[in-house]
Amino acid sequence: MASTLPAAVGFLAEVRQDGGRPLDAVFASLGSRAELKERTADQSLRTVVLHSGAPDGAHARARGRTLVLAGELYNQDELLRLLPPGQALPGTDAALVLALFDTYDAHAFRLLNGRFAALVAAPGRAVLATDHAGSVPLYVSAAPGRVLAATEAKALRTAPAGRPLAARPVRRLPGTHQVPAGTVLDIEVATGNCVTHRTWTPPLARRIMREEEAVESVRHAVEHAVRARTGADTPLVVLSGGIDSSTVAALAARRSAGPIDTVSMGTDEADEFPQARVVAGHIGSAHREITIPTADLLRRLPHTVRAAECLDPDIVEYLLPLTALYLRLGDQGRRILTGYGADIPLGGMHREDRLPELDTAVCRDMDTFDGLNEMTPTLSGIGGHWSTHPYWDRDVLDLLVSLEAGLKRRYGQDKWVLRAAMGDVLPHEVVVRPKLGVHEGSGTTSSFTRLLTDAGVPRDRVRRAKQLVVQELFDQVVVEGRQPDEVATGAVVELVADRLPAGVR
Ligand code: ATP
Ligand code: MG
Ligand code: MG
Ligand code: MG
Repeated sequence: MASTLPAAVGFLAEVRQDGGRPLDAVFASLGSRAELKERTADQSLRTVVLHSGAPDGAHARARGRTLVLAGELYNQDELLRLLPPGQALPGTDAALVLALFDTYDAHAFRLLNGRFAALVAAPGRAVLATDHAGSVPLYVSAAPGRVLAATEAKALRTAPAGRPLAARPVRRLPGTHQVPAGTVLDIEVATGNCVTHRTWTPPLARRIMREEEAVESVRHAVEHAVRARTGADTPLVVLSGGIDSSTVAALAARRSAGPIDTVSMGTDEADEFPQARVVAGHIGSAHREITIPTADLLRRLPHTVRAAECLDPDIVEYLLPLTALYLRLGDQGRRILTGYGADIPLGGMHREDRLPELDTAVCRDMDTFDGLNEMTPTLSGIGGHWSTHPYWDRDVLDLLVSLEAGLKRRYGQDKWVLRAAMGDVLPHEVVVRPKLGVHEGSGTTSSFTRLLTDAGVPRDRVRRAKQLVVQELFDQVVVEGRQPDEVATGAVVELVADRLPAGVR
């Protein structure tokens, strides 16, 4: 993979005083593996990092502490200013975080704007941290004498049962928990006792701004987030032609010396190719269209569930077309920018004019995103790529969530502030294009529904059946560790259709 990807995209880490057997490092994400073993007087540390050519960059070691970091930071410039003057500048994100840990201890994680999961092994302690959005999932199993952590739950599936923690348990993996978004778990290795620090929470207050001020702030924040996410290489934007991804593509193109790459997916049943083409033409990108036959798309359901480790059927429907696209890109290790997630803080899914309902929807979505793994880099990781989402940059998200609802819905338009910010950057037809979800534009929702009704599921049981299909897939590819190519979507659908209570069919 190219060197402009993060040093590591995932890890398994074992901090032990119990001398137990090491776990198999099982990941859905692709990547080279590097193992590190250390022993101090009171405990041992073993890590396996999934890397893209420079595994040393994923670790930092100083003063008896070791940090392992999967992912990357987006506010290094600010963070560097916090280091004591005269100190040698850290050469990697991992070294920077460890240097901040020296000064701030676990509170260092409150300072970071990034897309990461991290572990610090310090004498007697294992400190686990997620970014504000938990966008790189992190799982933990802790018991007296051992703390096992991994960026994919399946890597912990053979762990001995851990003790209960104040975190979300993972289905059918006893004692394995997901570290919440924006959280540090500070665990005492000898006892497994855990202290929790929240490092981020969605803003609850709403900011009043003049139109021009709001528009200017949003434009500036998104531009900055796009810039922080593009390296020296040509960025690739997954582009639908909707306002969210068109904004990201246009801003990435503006800062790029040459043309950027864009790619759109469609199926034999539905696509947004004409809409994306308008944008690609306007920004002069090297654009590709990838058509995935619906049967192939549906065959990727096990891969999607295995990558996202998600039990929510709606989310899986959003992620399926993207997963299928990432698996078809073919290139080596690309850095991918998406427009994913803009609709959550802006209430883009909310298709009517009333502001109380809009803000209620924003509050609900910001209260319930955690644990869905919508943003996980593993989706593109199974194709060997790294993805990143500018709208869920910490600064962008703080701003978008906190805008008063009348700036999100205005003059009868959804996502008004974003559309207004792009008025002079994108063609008018793009700026006013109504929202269309990726699951709709690719025909995913309807083809998944048809798969179930063809198997005999009554229409009013389709949602329940989708939930059961996703759950069964989760059990097979995460809990039981089966390979997704060996799991047939059709067979799982038949199983679920047969099991639905006969009286209701
Ligand atoms: P809007 O929400 O207004 O429709 P959008 O299409 O950019 O804008 P979503 O529909 O929410 O956003 O989709 C989420 C993201 O997934 C997009 O921003 C884009 O990055 C990616 N995406 C969606 N549809 C496609 C597609 N057909 N091809 C490639 N990428 C897509
Ligand atoms: Mg969108
Ligand atoms: Mg979106
Ligand atoms: Mg869309």
